[in-house]
Amino acid sequence: MVILAGKTHKMGILSLITLLIFSTVVGCKQSNTNQRTNYVQSPPAQEAASTPVESSEKIKIVTTFLPIYLFTKAVAGDAADVTILVPPGTEVHEYQATPENVKAIATANVLVKNGLGLEEFLEGTVKNAQNPQLTEIDASKGIKPLNEISPIETTTTKEKEHEHTEGNPHVWLDPVMAKQQVTNIRDGLIAVDPRNKTTYEANAAAYIQKLETLNSEFQQSLQKTPNCTFITFHDAYPYLAQRYNIKQVAVVEIPEDQLSPADVQNAVNTVKKYQVKALFSEPGVDNKLLKSLSKDLNLNLRTLDSLETGETNPQYYFQAMKANLQTLQTACK
Ligand SMILES: [Zn+2]
Repeated sequence: MVILAGKTHKMGILSLITLLIFSTVVGCKQSNTNQRTNYVQSPPAQEAASTPVESSEKIKIVTTFLPIYLFTKAVAGDAADVTILVPPGTEVHEYQATPENVKAIATANVLVKNGLGLEEFLEGTVKNAQNPQLTEIDASKGIKPLNEISPIETTTTKEKEHEHTEGNPHVWLDPVMAKQQVTNIRDGLIAVDPRNKTTYEANAAAYIQKLETLNSEFQQSLQKTPNCTFITFHDAYPYLAQRYNIKQVAVVEIPEDQLSPADVQNAVNTVKKYQVKALFSEPGVDNKLLKSLSKDLNLNLRTLDSLETGETNPQYYFQAMKANLQTLQTACK
């Protein structure tokens, strides 16, 4: 299976087809690293060697964005207070921290992040929060990120500046890696808050079991349609693709306003080259140009959810992923 993976949530810059295999673009713009908040020089607050909490109060856990919130909430249940820094509906890749974020981190016991360079806003924000009690949990600890694993074909040189040095961060979209993230979160929470060890273990076990079921469903369904080919516009699916033996081979970018004949021709050539079967957009994206492109390409436009935004119920992960599986199945037929 081949996925032509796409770029960005926002149909950013022009440059129609950047053919990347497990890509350097990583679906994220590195745009600017300036935060709205001012940096204060202070020692890093994290890695405070998991000071166990003694009081009878619930610990305060701050998470970065939706999937990490879902996994953390699933493990913590009602045993801890869990909040989210990047409000669902807000773009995580280009997020700018707010003073409220700094306050939240300043008073938290634990900060849980996806890691792999996704949360670019975090480092300065944590510094500003100056919280020596803070323990940081990297949910992707031990996960080997994918960089490019195949040759890159590109029509643009511009993309290089968006390169992510830490690999593609979208590991939560692979149920098996999601299991690893839940495990990392569970172990991190137990280290900080051993009083609730049993609760964290039980909650994590229940969630992991559902992830295993989901994994089996993906395996069983997608093995029926090998060599399926897609285009997406957000490079979010290389882990999912690798897990289920489908290949993400390209990034397609759409210009902000209008497709030129050359853009369309590039897309058409790519579709032919990789025998693309479907075109995937994502929720919340203005699909006008994609729709017109899909007509030109004679392909159906469907929606895949990267879960960067959505509902805050931990079960939402399964709901969205099952919808993704159905979309893939239909597209691959
Ligand atoms: Zn993304």
